[in-house]
Amino acid sequence: KGKRAFIAGVADDNGYGWAIAKSLAAAGAEILLGTWVPALNIFESSLRRGKFDESRVLPDGSLMQITKVYPLDAVFDNLEDVPADIKANKRYAGSSKWTVQEVAESVKEDFGSIDILVHSLANGPEVTKPLLETSRKGYLAALSASSYSYVSLLKHFLPILNPGGSSLSLTYIASERIIPGYGGGMSSAKAALESDTRVLAFEAGRKRKVRVNTISAGPLRSRAAKAIGFIDMMIDYSIANAPLQKELSAEEVGNAAAFLVSPLASAITGTVLYVDNGLNAMGVGV
Ligand code: NAD
Repeated sequence: KGKRAFIAGVADDNGYGWAIAKSLAAAGAEILLGTWVPALNIFESSLRRGKFDESRVLPDGSLMQITKVYPLDAVFDNLEDVPADIKANKRYAGSSKWTVQEVAESVKEDFGSIDILVHSLANGPEVTKPLLETSRKGYLAALSASSYSYVSLLKHFLPILNPGGSSLSLTYIASERIIPGYGGGMSSAKAALESDTRVLAFEAGRKRKVRVNTISAGPLRSRAAKAIGFIDMMIDYSIANAPLQKELSAEEVGNAAAFLVSPLASAITGTVLYVDNGLNAMGVGV
């Protein structure tokens, strides 16, 4: 029987989440998406108007089907967490049930269970500031949106993740090596995410036989990456210095994700898998 995947963090056709959705769809999975509330309207209307049709084409020529798009804001676990100004915000008031707990409940109501959970989201309001200039508020916001959001998603989806299922997030090497420009506590957030991958692998493995891994991806010109401001330089740097001298495509990360959540990876859990043309293995630039 086909597997069902919930992918959090898709709001256009440029990012890793979209590419992962495509690779999973190509492998026969049913696709559910979680889309950030403020980006929901434009994403859904673009989908409806056919703006993404070209990027929906799968290797067999068919179009990726998205069974349902759920509004999601992964910095809120439940309604009690939502402050008044967000509740009153027009874009938020136009949707409902977008806290993590409510989305998990809705997916359970609609489909009963899932097999694959993907976290492909991050946010750091002060990402362009060096760590020494990052405020406490900005640092904690980066951790909330980029690290705890994963703990929360897995916690709330674990009861409906079928045993043998698998969960995945996206990380970046700035967690373990100095990448000037990846600021605002985002490097710290990725370090937390990678450490949590190990602890969550233990807990979810013992509790539900669910695997937990993260992909350390190379640079991609996504919407989020363009906001950081140094993405073109990082892509050029990788092409100049990585063992494989080519631009990384989102599809390559999507395919690695499809492997990691498949039975081919049934003994792999708690790992950080580099999908970066090998750049992580270099000791010096050349
Ligand atoms: P992207 O813009 O496609 O994805 C980020 C998504 O996060 C967006 O859809 C955004 O709407 C969503 N989001 C932000 N805050 C949210 C919230 N509170 N609740 C729900 N959704 C929220 O960009 P991407 O680069 O593909 O990012 C996906 C993942 O890949 C991130 O974890 C990112 O750190 C990681 N990554 C990216 C690169 C890169 O170079 N692009 C490299 C390594 C890792």
